[in-house]
Amino acid sequence: MPEAMVASSASEATRGATTQQVDVAVVGAGFAGLYLLNRLRKAGFSSVLLEEAGDVGGTWYWNRYPGARCDIQTIDYAYTFDPELERAWQWSEKYATQPEILRYLGFVADRYDLRRDIRFGTKVTATTWDQAAERWWLTTDNGASVSCRYCIMATGCLSAPKPPEIDGVKDFKGEVYFTGRWPHEEIKLAGKRVAVIGTGSSGIQLIPLIAEQAAHLTVFQRTPNFALPAHNGAPPADRIALLEGDRAGYREQARMSLAGVPWPQQMAVSWQLSDAERRERFETAWAAGDLVYILTQLWADQAVDVDGNTLLADLIREKIREIVKDPETAAALTPHDHPFGAKRPCLDTNYYATYNRPNVTLVNLRQEPITGITASGIKTGKRSLDVDVIVFATGFDAMTGAIMAVHPITGRDGKSLSDVWANGPRTYLGLTVAGFPNLFMITGPGSPSVLSNMAVSIEQHVDWVADRLIAMREAGLTTIEATETAQAGWARHMADCSTLTLHRLANTWYTGANVPGKASGVMPYTGGVGPYRTICDEVVSCGMLGFRLTGPNVPEQCNDGEVVRLQPDVRLVLNMLAEMNLPPIESMGAQGARDFVAEFNKSRPAGRPVGEVVDGTLPGADGPLPYRLYRPATPGPHPIVVYFHGGGWVLGDEQSDDPFCRDMCRRTGMSFVSVGYRHAPEHRFPAAAEDGYAATRWIAEHAAEIGGKPGPLMVAGWSAGGNIAAVTCQLARDRGGPAISGQLLVCPVTDCGFDRPSYTDNATGYFLTRSLMYWFWDIYCSPADRTDPRVSPLRGKLENLPPALVATCEFDPLRDEGVAYAEALSAAGAPVEQLKARGHFHSSLTMVDVVITGVAARVQMADALCRFAGLPPERKEGDEGVRPRSDSLAA
Ligand SMILES: Cc1cc2nc3c(=O)[nH]c(=O)nc-3n(C[C@H](O)[C@H](O)[C@H](O)COP(=O)(O)OP(=O)(O)OC[C@H]3O[C@@H](n4cnc5c(N)ncnc54)[C@H](O)[C@@H]3O)c2cc1C
Repeated sequence: MPEAMVASSASEATRGATTQQVDVAVVGAGFAGLYLLNRLRKAGFSSVLLEEAGDVGGTWYWNRYPGARCDIQTIDYAYTFDPELERAWQWSEKYATQPEILRYLGFVADRYDLRRDIRFGTKVTATTWDQAAERWWLTTDNGASVSCRYCIMATGCLSAPKPPEIDGVKDFKGEVYFTGRWPHEEIKLAGKRVAVIGTGSSGIQLIPLIAEQAAHLTVFQRTPNFALPAHNGAPPADRIALLEGDRAGYREQARMSLAGVPWPQQMAVSWQLSDAERRERFETAWAAGDLVYILTQLWADQAVDVDGNTLLADLIREKIREIVKDPETAAALTPHDHPFGAKRPCLDTNYYATYNRPNVTLVNLRQEPITGITASGIKTGKRSLDVDVIVFATGFDAMTGAIMAVHPITGRDGKSLSDVWANGPRTYLGLTVAGFPNLFMITGPGSPSVLSNMAVSIEQHVDWVADRLIAMREAGLTTIEATETAQAGWARHMADCSTLTLHRLANTWYTGANVPGKASGVMPYTGGVGPYRTICDEVVSCGMLGFRLTGPNVPEQCNDGEVVRLQPDVRLVLNMLAEMNLPPIESMGAQGARDFVAEFNKSRPAGRPVGEVVDGTLPGADGPLPYRLYRPATPGPHPIVVYFHGGGWVLGDEQSDDPFCRDMCRRTGMSFVSVGYRHAPEHRFPAAAEDGYAATRWIAEHAAEIGGKPGPLMVAGWSAGGNIAAVTCQLARDRGGPAISGQLLVCPVTDCGFDRPSYTDNATGYFLTRSLMYWFWDIYCSPADRTDPRVSPLRGKLENLPPALVATCEFDPLRDEGVAYAEALSAAGAPVEQLKARGHFHSSLTMVDVVITGVAARVQMADALCRFAGLPPERKEGDEGVRPRSDSLAA
């Protein structure tokens, strides 16, 4: 029997003082609430939807200002759960207007007969969890309260308008409007003096239309925003053809994409393209009028790297200067304080050109802040302006505003959500909060939400929640609650993700910076829509990982843990490798494995430019060896780092760690000489070790010849290369030089023992497997030689060795032997810095521009090299906020 004890009809419930009893209460009748109600009803749950507004529509009910439109193309910004619905509705424009979207949502409500379970004009004021009854109790400002098993907040991310921060609004005798609460009747602005405060998305849509009507328009701008021409018109034929050609495939691609719109991952990096090629790509995007296209499709590094982003931002700035005739106004309209895309860019129609009109004035609030509002207008530090109308386009208390406005939300043990979120929202998956059983949020903080096409994100959340409620009912479970462990893990994963993009570098409503006193931090999930969806699915497939579930007649279930322990980009790389379904490398034979690695390396982003790259040969222990020299762009002579590539003494060459050498050369301002030492099985132990030493000696002796600074040099290496670097330091000490001032050992092989826990913990699944290590050892070194310090430096004498940085990765079979070497070096008196890269795998730190979250470690490694060379730490633009803190890298 359904749990509805009292009929859930709104009229009956509101008449009496009774509490309306339902299985599920939904708050909010926008895109999310409507679909939710439809799914719940179909699944047989008794439900009520409570909505403050007088009708359905949410965002599109409230934001009726002139020019209000979507900025994701309408064919993408629509429901996809029912192909019949898709066919039943035709959009008239590429970017539909607010009235059309509102009509669409009304059409959806009618088609599925949703209104009969919606209580309009009813604001939920507070809600409390009744532990004994295991039910939420909702109070409202209109009619009966509601008792429900599950409460779902579909209250919207952009539905709580931000109150004006200016004194005197009440004194103003003219008309005042808020874009987020625009009146239903037509507002006549012709012949009036109008002020618009705010130049976010709403302001940018509204300003050109007001300028056409008003006698004079004064725009008050605090922060200039990037705006791009929408080129609105009919829905584009090419996108429609794509959709209609394969509707299911198109929608699926959107669901698995980064932003919820089916554009592919861009592969070309900015430094691979000439100025002309970049300009051509940009002009195509500017002409296309597609926000997601220009945000994702120009070059791969545009959203993740400050330099790549600046190239694009500069091209947009150039456009602003071209369009706006007055140079001072153009300068004021040009954004300089945030990377393009870090703050939501806007789509416009004639926005910048509007400032060429004689009836439009821009007031730059950075230079003359508003000091107050008077009866007749607005006062700034420099002037008083009389106006008839003030329009506040000042945005929203985003993501948390509408949830926190339901106050208090009291969870288990009397916990209030406002206390739990006092330092910023904490959630598990952006869907639930520990301590608040049976409470869900649709597109809550911690989910992709406002960084995505929200139609896609809303459908995913609604389906996930509805499917969970159905599964719980089938299993006899009645409560579900996130665990603290899972929630803390999600916060860590969110922080890891935020190093992937540039959002952290801007003060925006994404970070809460637009609301005075609001805790600051990136609120939406920046790891992308597709990856997020797979994580939510993984939670389910792992037995509701991170949730505690109870029911009256079933044992409690709790598979506690963190759903993502890998860094987000490491997870993507490993998933991609898993999908390739490769045969084990050790089954390919040495030559086959070399060919595979060479082929694989071709698909990596090219290394970044350095001053000069010179190939040469040097004498090894038994014949010439190739080397590649990376020289910085700065005038020399430069300190020298001798570098040994990875590849298990079998694979790779002096060019195979090219992106890493380039990155380190740029960060340190030092010359890197990557040595092509001999490989097994052709040349077994101790060929690689002896070549490493011979090459280092030669480079030290010929430093000046190759443009380096004479004197002590440094050695560095990754994996087997780290082994060779460590061995070289021991040999240099024992054989009378050369002088080495520091060693950088990245995930080094240091010992022939396979019994440390990391060999078991990470035996498979992280690309470098235990069995591959066995194979490398077998090819390079016979068992009798393995304890020789020239291959197991941990077994050597460790006194009097140069300072070291030893980097290890959490998910690497070699982790523990790296740590053991660092500890042993330190015990023997060498200054040692340990870098334990949390969430990383063996290849993370050298996969430059692929594993972006490795940047903090690369900064730390570069700093260590600078220290070894007696130089101040280098800091490269774009590394802001990525400097390692002890807690961010500790395993
Ligand atoms: C001008 C504008 C343009 C946008 N364009 C796009 C776009 O192009 N693409 C895109 O992806 N997103 C866009 N968005 C974001 C947009 O908010 C979402 O796409 C989507 O409409 C959100 O739907 P929702 O149902 O989650 O929330 P909303 O549509 O915000 O609905 C929430 C509802 O909850 C109600 N509510 C809140 N609190 C309570 C309470 N305590 N009691 C009762 N009712 C309550 C509100 O009244 C509201 O009706 C835009 C937003 C704005 C403001």
